[in-house]
Amino acid sequence: MKSFYAAVFGAGLSGTAIAHELKKRGKSVLLIDPFVSENAPGPPAGLVNPATGRRAKLLWRAEKCLIALRELIDELSLSTGQHDLISDSGVIRPAITEELAVYFKESLEKYKWPDGWVHWMEKDEVSAFNPQIGPNHGALFLNSGFTVFVDRYLNCYRQLLRKKDVECIYKHAKYFVSEEESGFRIEVEDDQRFQADHVIVAAGHQTPLFNDWKFLPLHRVKGEVLWFEADHDLDWDHGISAMGYGMRVGRKDLIVGSTYEHHFDDLDTTEEAANQIHKKLNKMFSGLSGHLSVKAQLAGARVTTPNRLPVIGRHPDIKNLSIYSALGSTGLLFSQYVAELLADHLVSDTPVPEELAVKRF
Ligand SMILES: Cc1cc2nc3c(=O)[nH]c(=O)nc-3n(C[C@H](O)[C@H](O)[C@H](O)COP(=O)(O)OP(=O)(O)OC[C@H]3O[C@@H](n4cnc5c(N)ncnc54)[C@H](O)[C@@H]3O)c2cc1C
Repeated sequence: MKSFYAAVFGAGLSGTAIAHELKKRGKSVLLIDPFVSENAPGPPAGLVNPATGRRAKLLWRAEKCLIALRELIDELSLSTGQHDLISDSGVIRPAITEELAVYFKESLEKYKWPDGWVHWMEKDEVSAFNPQIGPNHGALFLNSGFTVFVDRYLNCYRQLLRKKDVECIYKHAKYFVSEEESGFRIEVEDDQRFQADHVIVAAGHQTPLFNDWKFLPLHRVKGEVLWFEADHDLDWDHGISAMGYGMRVGRKDLIVGSTYEHHFDDLDTTEEAANQIHKKLNKMFSGLSGHLSVKAQLAGARVTTPNRLPVIGRHPDIKNLSIYSALGSTGLLFSQYVAELLADHLVSDTPVPEELAVKRF
């Protein structure tokens, strides 16, 4: 039976990242995901925005997170020859209320922003920069932010992992604590069997369905976005974030989101969410909605914890079972750096930062 150092369950942002970091440390990895492939559809775009929430708080260890993500994107482009994974044109955060303008200006003073990451734009600068941005009281502009074309990025990442000899299996599988030997027995639906010393659950919003992790306070929040097509070329590249967000994909398409639905039974799209997103669109942009038609409505879910930070580390009772979850709404920024921390913990026993540890619960 083929043996691996680790079997990773989930090939989304967290699973690909931890598989890669373990491989970089010389470990053999089996990556399992029944719902994706190297050519899977997925979210067309996501924002990398280190100024988070209503108050534009600087993200936890933002500089390290950004460096790790940028290095990975460079590696992906180099190794696959795909140079269209991101739009590196910044993110504007218009203050659409006076209160937001106060918060944003406070944020500039309150946090130690790395040089060149962010600056304030007065109202007239905002309208000169992009006349389609709606009424505002000025804006934060994040040069450090950018748009990632997530479906392309993840498919490219899975290709890279295969090229690096990560064994990728896009089928249903289960793990069992091995009774005969140490570690785990992995059973794939087609009857393939593997052995792994470690198992890492990185299954996004499905992680709370794994019985072994039911004790964690993982909170699932549904989110919906609308995918619009404009009747003309949209002549800006930057992302926009103002009680919602907008990202251009191609010359004419615009993704606008997202809802935050804390109580839900399924991931079906709803009319109520579509109405909410139209309101967000009208707050962010002036005179655009009449030029847009809806191409698709998409729904997904993210996972958060009470301190809004990811959770990584080992299970308290099951030896060598670990988790990588709760990337929340900033999955892109967290994914690579937090994977480095988890890989160092598993391979070199480096302690996990307390604020991310399983132990905090
Ligand atoms: C509407 C919406 C908009 C968002 N916008 C942004 C944004 O602009 N910027 C940003 O940074 N983040 C954004 N996020 C958050 C981001 O998508 C998440 O943080 C991120 O996807 C979490 O990564 P993950 O790997 O933990 O989970 P996922 O990306 O969900 O990946 C989990 C993987 O596990 C697989 N899986 C499930 N069950 C199993 C199983 N039993 N066995 C094996 N594999 C399994 C799934 O198929 C999936 O591929 C958004 C989320 C939503 C819902």
